[in-house]
Amino acid sequence: MRLLIVQAWNRDETAYRSRFSSLLSYPSLTLAVLYALVPAGMFETIDVIDENSQHVDYDRVHYDLVLISFETSSAISAYRHCEEFRKRGSYVAVGGYHATALPEEAGQYCDTVISGPAEKALPVFLQDWISGHAKPFYRDTTVCPADYPVPARDKVTKRGKLKIPAVIADRGCMNACKYCSMRTMWKSNPRPVADVIAELKSLKARHYVFYDPNFFGKREYAIELMRAMEPLHILWASDATADFGCDHELMDIAYRSGCRGVVIGLESINSQSLSGVHKRFHNADKYEEIIRNIHSHHIGVNGCFVLGFDDDTEEELRSLPERVDRLGLDLCKFAILTPYPGTKLYDEMEQDGRILTKNWDLYNQHHVVYQPAHIAPERLHSVYREVWKNAYRWGRVSRRVFGSPALFHGAGGFLLGANIGFHFIGIR
Ligand code: SF4
Repeated sequence: MRLLIVQAWNRDETAYRSRFSSLLSYPSLTLAVLYALVPAGMFETIDVIDENSQHVDYDRVHYDLVLISFETSSAISAYRHCEEFRKRGSYVAVGGYHATALPEEAGQYCDTVISGPAEKALPVFLQDWISGHAKPFYRDTTVCPADYPVPARDKVTKRGKLKIPAVIADRGCMNACKYCSMRTMWKSNPRPVADVIAELKSLKARHYVFYDPNFFGKREYAIELMRAMEPLHILWASDATADFGCDHELMDIAYRSGCRGVVIGLESINSQSLSGVHKRFHNADKYEEIIRNIHSHHIGVNGCFVLGFDDDTEEELRSLPERVDRLGLDLCKFAILTPYPGTKLYDEMEQDGRILTKNWDLYNQHHVVYQPAHIAPERLHSVYREVWKNAYRWGRVSRRVFGSPALFHGAGGFLLGANIGFHFIGIR
């Protein structure tokens, strides 16, 4: 029996497959986790394809079973794979964010849909499939941290990727931002600190990225974990919310444990836009102070902005590159507001007739797929392009990197690489 596990990718994202891709993407943790959930000895061969950097070949060998994980932006690619593999006689099962949000749609293209977390549902499906009794839908959300397997990282390609392992302590977040699709999959349920530390020790790396959507969300847990990380002498980065920059004790413990960078969804410089999408921290006037505070602990900040909230004005959006300069961010990212299926934002926009297209290929945060409140869709798209280009002019890249307080604290190489990588994304 042969099994293929695929992480499908959006065709537009080939931008990341430039020679700078190794500065921007990490080996797939999703694939490593899925592989680890397959009971040992069930298949003679298991192949793994990360479409971000590998080609999906339908004819190289015949697979008895194909598992495909995908997000909304890669749904069309994934459905094409489903059709091609089914034509060749493979049984195809799918899972991931999009299949969780729209299981009926996904079910039209495959034999089985596994929605929600895979930890319990995937092994049950595999046992059913091998005994010839697979059902069309599986869902089991009763997962707990003990169900999380040791990811099979050695089975996943590292070609064209950063040589930095991704780790997870808590996949959930207690906040409720209207546009967040992460909430459709995970609840906050942190792993025991001892398990995370054992995993870090086994990996023996110097640098890590935590994929936690809100690393400091459960403050006491984060402190316990970071205190246990301190003796490991590692360097790491993760996502955080803006209020991290108001808590000096937390920032101090973070720096001591090796934290050298946080990615913060600042989202907007308009406080009304922030409260309109239920951001828990919604005071954009405090951003400068927050970033100064984080920098005072020698931790770099990657600030992410979303363009197209209902209260955004075109002038504010166009001023983003100057605002990024003034805020003193070390790295910045821009995305067009995207109402993903399964989110409150999508339901509201659908109800109000504002969804302009359901071409999922366009749901990759680079296209306007809804009717903005005050700007024409084409105008918003052109402002978005202008903002990327202006924010990543060489002069700004160099001022950002060489002015960064994190530069000489272990994050210099990453900062330079990521800023250069984003420069090339920006000019595309
Ligand atoms: S803080 Fe981040 S992870 Fe949490 S709900 Fe908001 S967008 Fe999602």
